[in-house]
Amino acid sequence: MSFHNLELNSAMLRAVKRAGYTEPTPIQTRAIPQILQGRDLIGCAQTGSGKTAAFALPILQMLDPVPGRRPVRVLVLAPTRELAAQINDEFGKFSRDSSLRSAAIYGGVGQQPQVDALKRGVDVLAATPGRLLDLMNQQFIHLNRIEYFVLDEADRMLDMGFIHDVKRVIKRLPEKRQTMLFSATMPPAVQELSRSMLIDPVKVEANPQATTVESIAQSIYFVESGNKRALLKHILRDPASERVLVFTRTKHRANNLAKQLNRARIPAEAIHGNKSQTARTRALAQFKSGRTAVLVATDIAARGLDIDAVTHVINFDLPNIPESYVHRIGRTARAGASGIAYSFCDVSERKYLPEIEALIRKPIAVVSEHPYVSAIEAPGPAATVNTPPNGKGRRRRQRSRGGRQRRSA
Ligand code: AMP
Repeated sequence: MSFHNLELNSAMLRAVKRAGYTEPTPIQTRAIPQILQGRDLIGCAQTGSGKTAAFALPILQMLDPVPGRRPVRVLVLAPTRELAAQINDEFGKFSRDSSLRSAAIYGGVGQQPQVDALKRGVDVLAATPGRLLDLMNQQFIHLNRIEYFVLDEADRMLDMGFIHDVKRVIKRLPEKRQTMLFSATMPPAVQELSRSMLIDPVKVEANPQATTVESIAQSIYFVESGNKRALLKHILRDPASERVLVFTRTKHRANNLAKQLNRARIPAEAIHGNKSQTARTRALAQFKSGRTAVLVATDIAARGLDIDAVTHVINFDLPNIPESYVHRIGRTARAGASGIAYSFCDVSERKYLPEIEALIRKPIAVVSEHPYVSAIEAPGPAATVNTPPNGKGRRRRQRSRGGRQRRSA
C-alpha cells in the first residue's frame, strides 16, 4: 500500500514525503479515504498507530484557506497537554506549505500567548477541555464555525473524568460538521458517547493492538515488592537499556523512584501530572535527546507522549487495568518498530495477570533466572508448596520452566 492510493492530493503527498513516511499505517490506509468522503468516523487505534496523521492529512486537504479574519474551523480535543501539543505539531508539520495556521490550547501555562495566537487567527485548534472551556467563557474562542471535530483518545478522556467538559464543548459545536472519534479501547461509555455525537459513522479498526503487542518481546519478573528497585537497577545496568520508560502506579512512586535512580547514578526524570508544564517539557526533551536514559511515568502522564526509539518499557508496577498494559508497552513499538517490555509482578499484583494475558491473547514468558526471583515463584519445592488450588499457579510454573528465558542483564 502506498500513500498514492489514498486519494491524497499533491500537497499532502509532499507533506507526507517531507515527514519521511514511506508507507501508510493500517489506520491511515483505512481512515483517510473515508474521512475524505465526508464520513463521520470511529477509529479504534492507539497512540503509536499513526492516528494523528490519519485525521490530520485528510482534514488539511479538505480545509481551504479563507480570506480575512479566520474563524476556528477544526477542533481536536485531547486529554493531555502533551498530546494537544503533539497534535498541533503534526498539523504544523503537514501544513507548512499552506497558509493554514494551528495552535495548541492547554492549561498549566499562562493563557496570554494562547490568547495572542487566537487573536492572530487560527484555523486548527488542538485543545484540552479545561482550558478550552475557560477561553470560551472569556469569549476568546468561538466554536460556531467548526467544520471538523476530532475527539482523540476518547477512552482516556472519560477515564480522566472529562466527560462533562466534553459534552459541554459538543453542545457549542454546529450541528453540521464532520466528527471523528478515536479511542484505543471501546468500553460501553465510549460507545454511548459516540452514539450521541456521530452521525452514521463508519468504524475503522486498524487495531494494531494485537500486532503491536506481537512485535514486542514481553516478559514478566516475579519479584517481591521490596526488591523491585534493586531489580530495576540490575536491568538498567545492561548497556542495551538505552532509553527506558518506566511505569509506576502513583506520582509519589514515580518521584521516589527517579530520586533513587539518580542517587545510584542512573540519570532519571519523573513525569506526572503534578509537575509544572515547564518541568514536564524539560524532562521530555532531556529524554528525547538521550541526556536522561530513564523516564519514570504514571499512566496519565505518558498518554500520547510521542517518544521514538524507546528501547524498553518496564512496568515497575503491573497495571490493574489490562488496557493500560497494552497502552504502556505500545510505547516501545512505535510505527512498526519492535521493542522490549518487562513487567515486575509482586504477590499482590498477581491477580492482574490473567486479564492482561486474556487481552493480549497469549501468556507472557516468565524470567525465572534473575537475582531477585520471588521465593514463591522460584523453581523448586517452594513454588509447588505455593501452587494455588485453582491450578493457575501450576500453569504459570510450567510456563516459567518451559518459557523463554531472557538474560536479565
Ligand atoms: P501517532 O499514533 O499519531 O501518535 O503517531 C505515532 C508516531 O508515528 C509519530 O511519531 C508519527 O510521526 C509516526 N508516523 C505516523 N505515520 C507514519 C507513517 N506512515 N510512517 C512512519 N511513521 C509514521
